[in-house]
Amino acid sequence: MKFDVIVIGAGAAGMFCAAEAGKRGRRTLLLEHNAQPGRKIIVSGGGRCNFTNIHTTHENFVSSNPHFCKSALAGYTPNDFIELVRSYRIEYFEKKLGQLFCRDRSHQIVEMLLAECRKAKVAIKTNCSVNSVAKEEGFTVETSLGNFSCESLVVATGGLSFPKIGATDLGYRLARQFGIRTVQTRPSLVPMMFESGLADAAKLAGISVDSEVNADNRSFRENILFTHRGLSGPAILQASNYWRQGEDVDIDMLPGTDLADELSRSRHERITLAVWLGNRLPNRLVQYLVANGLPNKPLDQLNGKEISEVTSKINKWRVRFQKTEGWDKAEVTLGGISTDELSSKTMEVKKVPGLYFIGEVVDVTGWLGGYNFQWAWASAYAAGKAV
Ligand SMILES: Cc1cc2nc3c(=O)[nH]c(=O)nc-3n(C[C@H](O)[C@H](O)[C@H](O)COP(=O)(O)OP(=O)(O)OC[C@H]3O[C@@H](n4cnc5c(N)ncnc54)[C@H](O)[C@@H]3O)c2cc1C
Repeated sequence: MKFDVIVIGAGAAGMFCAAEAGKRGRRTLLLEHNAQPGRKIIVSGGGRCNFTNIHTTHENFVSSNPHFCKSALAGYTPNDFIELVRSYRIEYFEKKLGQLFCRDRSHQIVEMLLAECRKAKVAIKTNCSVNSVAKEEGFTVETSLGNFSCESLVVATGGLSFPKIGATDLGYRLARQFGIRTVQTRPSLVPMMFESGLADAAKLAGISVDSEVNADNRSFRENILFTHRGLSGPAILQASNYWRQGEDVDIDMLPGTDLADELSRSRHERITLAVWLGNRLPNRLVQYLVANGLPNKPLDQLNGKEISEVTSKINKWRVRFQKTEGWDKAEVTLGGISTDELSSKTMEVKKVPGLYFIGEVVDVTGWLGGYNFQWAWASAYAAGKAV
């Protein structure tokens, strides 16, 4: 069967793009190998889908070309998506830092996108695995349900994270087939694992501390969460977008407090360091630090060397992580289709007219907090208007 447009992948970007193309009267087919479209949307945001961030700018994204995403983000803004959400009477709330979540559940976003596709008369085939693509005059897509052909082909197959809900490498394979450069992929927005030396840190699992985390000169102030193997929590997930193997991450567990200064000024208090710290940090963490050599003396007996030791463990804790927890735990994929290969206005491949890449498969990765969906909507809109 022949279509004007075929979109591979009924995730966030694919559904949105298919609906936009369909609204322009393009005969559009959307292909998904899962039984159900939008499975990542359903699990996102803890089941409530953090569908956008009202403060989105290009600075919230990691990409080899940080300017590439500007045009698409300007063409379809968080407010545009909020208006769509409102028109479907989906209730939402701002959790923190501009992050908008569904009040009820993320299924509502999938139902909204499917309704948009229905309105635009998009044909959807689920349980349809795309095996390969051939280019003749247009494109022929070979699938488990037979062959389909089209003028414009949109690849919206997403990244490699969460393979258990359907991630595949088809997008990257198609890039190789068409000689399109890719930027090396790696898991991100992901918990990090300590080097083995900190193995007994499992005792700290479950402790959460408001911290400032610095990786590659980027700082994030939010909670860190100790896990059995390392650290997680929003500040660590954010830092994972910037961390590279072998590089240290600096953590300040009392941001805004100059410990050396405060300790010197508190010398008159007739208490021990552990008691003093216990008023500022979780007790279990303080006990662990004391058990691991933090000098637990009365404050007036601490010497300069001991004070700087305390400071280096709390204000300037330098952590060498061994690795991340990998694709199974990562929310997103860093890297992907090189932005040099794409038009920033339409997402079309410069050297293969008619072929488009959108969403997470492209080398544009957002911070934690609704930015990745905003990129999915914006890149999908740009392509949907062009195909
Ligand atoms: C647990 C989790 C929570 C998240 N929470 C948030 C959040 O709250 N806010 C936020 O902004 N981002 C969040 N993200 C990231 C966000 O889900 C993704 O960035 C976004 O879904 C990317 O959209 P996409 O359409 O590019 O890819 P996807 O949504 O992954 O869609 C790709 C689709 O292509 C299909 N597909 C793949 N290969 C084939 C093939 N060969 N044949 C046919 N179909 C194929 C897949 O099954 C999938 O349906 C979260 C991610 C995870 C894993």
